[in-house]
Amino acid sequence: MYAARKNLSTIVVAMDIGGQVGLTREVANYPGFDSVTGPDLAGRYHEQAAKYDITELIGERVTGLSIDGRCKVVELESGRSVRASTVIMATGVQKRRLNVPGEGRLSGRGVVYCSTCDGPLFKGLTIAVVGAGNSGLEAAIEMDGVAARVYLVSIGDWIGDAILQDKVSAAKRVESLRFHEVVEIHGDDKVSAVTLRDVRSGETKTIDVDGVFIEVGLYPNSEFALDLLETNVVGEIEVDKNGATGVRGVFAAGDVTDNHDKQIVVAAGEGARAALAAFGYLVKQQ
Ligand SMILES: Cc1cc2nc3c(=O)[nH]c(=O)nc-3n(C[C@H](O)[C@H](O)[C@H](O)COP(=O)(O)OP(=O)(O)OC[C@H]3O[C@@H](n4cnc5c(N)ncnc54)[C@H](O)[C@@H]3O)c2cc1C
Repeated sequence: MYAARKNLSTIVVAMDIGGQVGLTREVANYPGFDSVTGPDLAGRYHEQAAKYDITELIGERVTGLSIDGRCKVVELESGRSVRASTVIMATGVQKRRLNVPGEGRLSGRGVVYCSTCDGPLFKGLTIAVVGAGNSGLEAAIEMDGVAARVYLVSIGDWIGDAILQDKVSAAKRVESLRFHEVVEIHGDDKVSAVTLRDVRSGETKTIDVDGVFIEVGLYPNSEFALDLLETNVVGEIEVDKNGATGVRGVFAAGDVTDNHDKQIVVAAGEGARAALAAFGYLVKQQ
């Protein structure tokens, strides 16, 4: 929308409309809405953008990004390619999954991949947070003030920052279950329990929970650009404050970048800023 409003000839290439927003049951922290479903919000974005002259290539997977002189070439799985003066990569992330029985079926029904987003829905309930890196520890701290009881499940020792570990140790409602792995998540139409296995003794136990918060890492969708763009150790694209990458005319925005906060309002703002920066870049080229 920001690119089209600058009269730039704009093409959107995406595998789907909505991305992670389309998978979110309830969004309660997007300005202007008390509460909105993810698909509703994504639909509104699309409806608004469709009022502009934008070419949509939806259902197309990008497999390559290269430079040909001043032109950027976006290669698609279908064999087509798009040539453009500038590119904004906003391909987001995938949450790493546990791949255990019950996880997929109960996703959005007590299985949660975004603690900041969905945590308040578990006020006064019992949850398990899986993962004890920084995200898992932060989720446990955050939920200590919200849930009635928090089991912090980790396959090994805690690996997050010491300051977070101290806070979790001091948290009243958090019970640590180190050296445990999740074997199965149970529930009919929502989560009711989780089965854990003690990786040292091999013993299993099932505990009643209302939610399972999975915080075992993220994969940025940056594979096809790894040869071209600078990324950090986890594959997030490094950008400056305007969303510019190290390659002139290539910008990035949202969760795929090395910006810390993975939230809808942040991604939307970064997308707008990258489009304005792309416009500024093109003006300077003339
Ligand atoms: C379950 C869940 C709940 C959440 N709840 C909230 C919430 O309540 N509030 C909040 O602020 N944030 C929430 N988040 C985080 C929020 O959804 C993200 O921060 C936001 O969607 C990031 O937007 P994005 O455009 O950067 O990436 P994404 O939403 O990931 O979109 C990326 C898009 O790029 C496409 N794509 C990726 N790779 C390719 C490729 N190779 N070729 C073509 N297309 C490609 C994808 O199909 C997708 O359409 C939640 C996330 C999850 C998973």
